Amino acid sequence: MRPKFSVPADGRRSSRPGRAVVQANLTRPPTAQQPRIAILGAGGFIGSHLVPALALRPGARIVAVDVDFDKLPPGLPEVERIQASIRDPGILDAITARADLVISLTALCNPALYNTRPLEVIDAAYTDLVPLVKLCAERKRRLIHLSTCEVYGRRALGADGRPSRRMDEDRTALCLGPVHRERWTYAAAKQLLERVIWAYGRHGGLAFTVVRPFNVIGPRMDFIPGVDGQGIPRVLAAFMHALLTGGDLVLVDGGRQRRSFLYVDEFVNALLRIIDRPDPCQGQIINLGNDKNDVSIRALAGKMVSAFRAQRPGASAPRLRTRTAAAFYGAGYEDSVVRIPSMAKAARLLDWRPHISLTQMLPPIVADYLARYESRVAGNPRARATAPGLP
Ligand code: NAD
Ligand code: UDP
Repeated sequence: MRPKFSVPADGRRSSRPGRAVVQANLTRPPTAQQPRIAILGAGGFIGSHLVPALALRPGARIVAVDVDFDKLPPGLPEVERIQASIRDPGILDAITARADLVISLTALCNPALYNTRPLEVIDAAYTDLVPLVKLCAERKRRLIHLSTCEVYGRRALGADGRPSRRMDEDRTALCLGPVHRERWTYAAAKQLLERVIWAYGRHGGLAFTVVRPFNVIGPRMDFIPGVDGQGIPRVLAAFMHALLTGGDLVLVDGGRQRRSFLYVDEFVNALLRIIDRPDPCQGQIINLGNDKNDVSIRALAGKMVSAFRAQRPGASAPRLRTRTAAAFYGAGYEDSVVRIPSMAKAARLLDWRPHISLTQMLPPIVADYLARYESRVAGNPRARATAPGLP
């Protein structure tokens, strides 16, 4: 069976794909066998790992929606690709008519956008998704929504406002900075959508699970500036860009801030468990992260340099260079200081604990970036000239 929709070789966006797709292909009713799963944002980093994992399952029936499928491996006959925006008229209506389960991944989730394109960030994280929540509630479709650990804000605070070590789904206060710090537009929008989902669950019969990912990394994350994107990607791709081009790795504010990194394969494994455990996960908000991989960004840079030099011993030694957050991201940025997930709920509900350390995960990630980008960077002066965040 071939997918009903394939991505045009020449285009990343269709003009009005949603309406055409709705009329042509989304009128079949759900059947009683395997649940039909719709994945919105299926062509992004996480989607490009989740979709193939789901497609391996016997009898899988997947509808993948994105404006861009470049990252999704070809083939996958179990996957119907719909190249469309979830903003296209009728698309959410048509998808929720057919799917038994909707997994929502769409967002603009790159911190460099939060203070530079805040209105688009808010629309993507909130406005565009409220209709989805309503439709899932009305039609009794299960919703698994990817929120973010950013909702916890700058650091973990207990209910009494005192600092605590871990971010706990049901106890930690949500500590965002002031409104003029636009970095928090994304977190505030994600938080409000969580509250909408919660309210539909409590008062409108919505079956849902909200996931808060903590810095998931792996192959196919973001883009390499000057090659397949512009601007400042998230830190893994920003450091890979510097390594590939022989540039400097920029440490924002010296790289003292800390993150807990989770390998994408383990993240996908946890998502599959959530899919398979609707009853225990019903109405739950669940952190997915790895508390053992809590490191400073400076330490991450050191580990990435080591992983890179092990694979390219002849490359010149990369330098670490400090810049202020204001100079790197512009006005309105503010950082999360430290983010360590409480792992207890995921362990209890999913029988899941991640094991892959940074030292284990970085070599395959670096190898993947080398395989996909090294020759494209070498022949591309724009990639070398594009040093994100550097003057
Ligand atoms: P990503 O940017 O790689 O993927 C998002 C995908 O959504 C992209 O392919 C994009 O084209 C698509 N998209 C955006 N708007 C769309 C629209 N209107 N219609 C159709 N498609 C649209 O991001 P990701 O890292 O894969 O993250 C997936 C989800 O997980 C996001 O909701 C993000 O907020 C959340 N999350 C991820 C992480 C992480 O560490 N990767 C951390 C916290 C939260
Ligand atoms: N960062 C950095 N250098 C870069 C890119 C990011 O020091 O080139 C820092 C950023 O300030 C933040 C951390 O790395 O403290 C993680 O940033 P990322 O964009 O991956 O996402 P976040 O965890 O902030 O959502």
